Amino acid sequence: MKRARLGLRWLIFILVVVGLFWSYQAFDLGRLLTLEHIKASRDALVDFYTTQPLLTVFVYFVIYVLATAASIPGAVILTLAAGTLFGFGLGLLLVSFASSLGALLAFLVARYLLHGAIQSRFGQSLKPINEGIARDGVLYLLTLRLVPLFPFWLINLLMGLTPMSATRFYGVSQIGMLPGTAVYVFAGTQLATIDSVGDILSPLLLGSLLLLGSFPIMAKLFVNYLAQRKVYGAWQKPKKFDRNLIVIGAGAGGLVTAYIGAAVKARVTLIEGHKMGGDCLNYGCVPSKALIRSAKVAKQLKIAKDFGVEDVTGQVNFKAVMQRIHDVIQLIEPHDSVQRYTDLGVEVMLGHAVIRTPWSVEVTSPDGQSQTLTTRNIVIAAGAKPFVPPIPGLKESGYLTSDTIWNLTELPSRLVVLGGGPIGCELSQSFARLGSQVTQVEMTSQLLGREDPEVSEQVKAALQRDGVVVLTEHKALRIERVAGEQQIIVQHGDVETAITFDHILFAVGRSPRVTGYGLEALGIPLTSKNTIDTNAYLQTIYPNIFAVGDVAGPFQLTHAAAHQAWYAAVNGLFGRFKRFKVDYSVMPAATFTDPEVARVGLSETEAKAIGVPYEITRYDLDDLDRAIADGTAQGFVKVLTVPGKDKILGATIVGEHAGDLLAEFVLAMKYGLGLNKILGTVHTYPTMSEANKYVAGQWKRAHAPKRLLAWVEKYHRWQRS
Ligand SMILES: Cc1cc2nc3c(=O)[nH]c(=O)nc-3n(C[C@H](O)[C@H](O)[C@H](O)COP(=O)(O)OP(=O)(O)OC[C@H]3O[C@@H](n4cnc5c(N)ncnc54)[C@H](O)[C@@H]3O)c2cc1C
Repeated sequence: MKRARLGLRWLIFILVVVGLFWSYQAFDLGRLLTLEHIKASRDALVDFYTTQPLLTVFVYFVIYVLATAASIPGAVILTLAAGTLFGFGLGLLLVSFASSLGALLAFLVARYLLHGAIQSRFGQSLKPINEGIARDGVLYLLTLRLVPLFPFWLINLLMGLTPMSATRFYGVSQIGMLPGTAVYVFAGTQLATIDSVGDILSPLLLGSLLLLGSFPIMAKLFVNYLAQRKVYGAWQKPKKFDRNLIVIGAGAGGLVTAYIGAAVKARVTLIEGHKMGGDCLNYGCVPSKALIRSAKVAKQLKIAKDFGVEDVTGQVNFKAVMQRIHDVIQLIEPHDSVQRYTDLGVEVMLGHAVIRTPWSVEVTSPDGQSQTLTTRNIVIAAGAKPFVPPIPGLKESGYLTSDTIWNLTELPSRLVVLGGGPIGCELSQSFARLGSQVTQVEMTSQLLGREDPEVSEQVKAALQRDGVVVLTEHKALRIERVAGEQQIIVQHGDVETAITFDHILFAVGRSPRVTGYGLEALGIPLTSKNTIDTNAYLQTIYPNIFAVGDVAGPFQLTHAAAHQAWYAAVNGLFGRFKRFKVDYSVMPAATFTDPEVARVGLSETEAKAIGVPYEITRYDLDDLDRAIADGTAQGFVKVLTVPGKDKILGATIVGEHAGDLLAEFVLAMKYGLGLNKILGTVHTYPTMSEANKYVAGQWKRAHAPKRLLAWVEKYHRWQRS
């Protein structure tokens, strides 16, 4: 339906262009709209105006509006004619309104006929232009209008293709064209002295109009300069700087920022107040994945019989599991160590950092010594910490978070996990597989609330198969001690239930670290999500102070922090030459439950919520040879594409190694490769990655050219006859 509408509009567009071309030739407009013709007809026109003033004004106005609306080049000649016929005052009034009205009509025609087609064809590439027009469109248009060098008709048509509103276009055009119109109408009053249109704009006049045209942009730069002065006004800027870049926090975001800074030969100091490697290495990704591996082995022992391996017994030695986790951390530690970063050229300081001014940071080392360093740029990569809601009874009962769970020495026999997000699900399943009785409590109606319901259902079923009691739509009310045992009271509807536990783990979110290191004194604002407020270049209100990673949001992922780090480092060190807007268009994420859940781009729920049209193609893993052979034939690959096209809007994979399998879709989306390209790529047999090819095959079958195939079938029949 939409395609048919777009096709019709293209047809009308072609007819309009052909019609205009024909009229231009048929009425010999090329000759009529010339200076010579206007000069030659001047006396006749003036006579007609003297006898029929109202009719002349009306006809002139209508001709001007129509010529402009039809984008017929000749507005300059018509404007000169207004000066010669009506004089300066009335001429200016008529041309000002007629040109603005005609421009508006041309704008509307372009918008109606071409805007939809252009935006849907080049939508993604036009994003920066659309954003620029939304932000500074008025400035751009005003500049273009003030300098009468840019073809008037072309501006009308091009602006129609942008998202600028018609009222804004009209208003800015009317004001912006006034000086140029005045020049040409005045020239029209002196028509006899003009030999060519080029004479009208003397170099001095052109220079003045250029100056006028640059005024809106100069004014904006000046306002920006004043805003910066205001923000920095209260601080004393050092005359010289010790460093080019100081990075606060040596987690994923800080390490990568420092690495890039040192690689481009800047003097960089990285300050870490706790452990090198931050949360990912010490409390997050690394220990959780090591735990997941031990839990998987425990599970495989239990199902060994299904694979023909009998009499397998195994005992979980929890102390050994925890020891392995710490060993794994130790093995990876050198990647993030002081030694490695020092070797890379980064000055690493262990201590607590506080930003004292926009250009200075005070570092207090563990022995209490302080020193203040000056720097041109600061990158804040202070991370996040587990959020613990104020539930009554919590202080008395004690609790675990992702920071403290790695200190356990005994397997909790009854564990309550609060939270149904990725961390809650990964840890619930792991502890259940190791032998804990796990109850997972989630307030909303589904686990992994950001995923499509069918994804959450698969994960829930998997967790339940491993023995986790999953309670969705249950709210934690309070913790009580009854007969020497800890209980959490949860509410579902009007019903309250008590769950007895030995340990309770909070996995209900992570709060950005935003206090205790100077943000308050500098007045750096936070967002409604409590992250540091940054612009698209990751700058705070102080353009030389940046924020990346969990403290900046919008993601809480190691690779997102590392991705942002490049932008912060480059914008900080080289921003005076060129700044880069952080690109979040292709940001993958995975949850390492079994089956894993991995997604890039839009989910179906998100596409519906933001009204993006899509087609779904799905391939179930119970059909995949390798998954069947491995006994992991659960899950699916689901791809959202632009209707009728193979362009990928999003891909979700549920299954064994989903996090790894997703890489192909991430690459495809990043470089604009569609499902046809995935289908045309050889995938090794038998691997899980073939699922990506098969989903592309499903899409291809659904879009097979049925009419053509009917003819091909006839051809084959004829060949056999
Ligand atoms: C259990 C768990 C599992 C996870 N699993 C994954 C996963 O599988 N994949 C994934 O992508 N992400 C995962 N994450 C998230 C990931 O750990 C974070 O997104 C990532 O660590 C964020 O990096 P960051 O640099 O922003 O902050 P962090 O790693 O938190 O580093 C911040 C550092 O700044 C230091 N610091 C703070 N303030 C100061 C100061 N004033 N002076 C000096 N130093 C300071 C802190 O000590 C800390 O070391 C997981 C998180 C958890 C908790």
